[in-house]
Amino acid sequence: MITPESALNPEQRRVLAGLLDRRGGRIPGPYRFTLHCPEITELMHPFGELLRLRSSFPLRVSEMAIVSFFVWRANRGEASFLYWAASGVMQGMGWGLFALTLAKPSAVLAHSLSESLIFAGHVSGYLALAIFTLRRIGRLQSNTLAVLIAAFAVLDFACRLQNVPAWDGVVALSHAILALLMMAMLLREGRPGTYGIVYTANSVILIIVAVTLTKVYDVFFGETGAAEITAQADVNTAVVLGATMAMIVMTVALSLLEFSRKAKRLNELAGQDPLTDTINRRAWRTVIESECARAKRRNAPFSVMMIDIDHFKKVNDKYGHSAGDGVLTSSARVIAAQLRAMDTLCRYGGEEFVVLLVDADGQAAARIAERIRASIAESMVDWEAVTFAVTCSVGVAEFDPETDTPVSLVARADKAMYCAKSLGRNRVVASSDFDAEVTRPFQ
Ligand code: GH3
Ligand code: MG
Ligand code: MG
Repeated sequence: MITPESALNPEQRRVLAGLLDRRGGRIPGPYRFTLHCPEITELMHPFGELLRLRSSFPLRVSEMAIVSFFVWRANRGEASFLYWAASGVMQGMGWGLFALTLAKPSAVLAHSLSESLIFAGHVSGYLALAIFTLRRIGRLQSNTLAVLIAAFAVLDFACRLQNVPAWDGVVALSHAILALLMMAMLLREGRPGTYGIVYTANSVILIIVAVTLTKVYDVFFGETGAAEITAQADVNTAVVLGATMAMIVMTVALSLLEFSRKAKRLNELAGQDPLTDTINRRAWRTVIESECARAKRRNAPFSVMMIDIDHFKKVNDKYGHSAGDGVLTSSARVIAAQLRAMDTLCRYGGEEFVVLLVDADGQAAARIAERIRASIAESMVDWEAVTFAVTCSVGVAEFDPETDTPVSLVARADKAMYCAKSLGRNRVVASSDFDAEVTRPFQ
């Protein structure tokens, strides 16, 4: 669409006249966007005035400083967030310095320093995401990136001194490549629950990359050459502000991803017993409920066993509570060694463990229980200068799909365990063959 000159407002006419003067009658690339759509230009005009390229830099610098500060505060101790904050600071300082050099084109060193700071900021941002996603980063990779920053700084200074126009395209291209690398790292972090965050952040970055690449194209193949890449044009302002927005979106994305990671970890910890590293009663409830449902649907057998250490109170009284804790951790290890990967071991109470044995009927479960009883009785507990043995009593109950609920099944195994206690301890009793009259004493 060609817009007649008469449709332009006075400001546009002034800009157009200036450009035509400088360019021998040709309209340079970046202005194509604005001149083709006078209504949008009209609408955007107040914003354009407010956010001219140079005045948008202080905005960018302060945004970087604020974001960096909060990110560092919220995630102290996480290396990835330290690199991310460093990235914000370097980019902020770089863009601030760059704004100053726009007013003084002869300040080659300052110009070059600003570009190197921005480049180092982007590399640091990539490192932050790489550490965040891959958990650690190889020495070779971080050394390579450090060499890359140094090489960029030297080349940038040399090209600025020699006034090489194509270098502007290389700089823009390097930003686009680093942004794409960041996108790749974010994509690796995508999993159910975080896809929304990842794809939103990546869409914003992709738009910035696309615009940056059009500028790279202009530098190398366009009619305008490199001059317009830093010009006081709306499209350049939009790129700077868009990059700022991308940075904010990525920071929010990173924080949300960290939040979801921590929530997952907290959830795991909430279901774990800190002493024995087995699951606790909270997680047990979920496991047994889903196994009951599965067994009913598939008509597959499964059993539960309740294991209680005999005379555990005496261990505490004789050797102290730390020795008692040692018995609990070693017993958990001994029990786990007798189980298959799909079985579940849970610390049910003080010195009581409960085990869920999938695909095991009462007889199979009783055999496994006997193995566990024997291995606990045989294993010796070494505690400081003393060595002693403990025994355990085990109750076994097979799930009955007709009558059992998760609670009743555990109660039957518990009753069987108390039957084993009453019969003299250090033995296994199956729920199917114990005296139904034996009841658990009041505790
Ligand atoms: P029984 O053979 O009848 O099972 O006797 P017991 O002594 O093993 O059982 P009782 O229920 O009388 O005592 C259990 C003891 O376990 C009481 C409590 O102080 C101790 N205990 C519970 N939790 C822990 C723990 O985390 N560490 C230690 N060291 N002791 C614990
Ligand atoms: Mg006991
Ligand atoms: Mg007990």
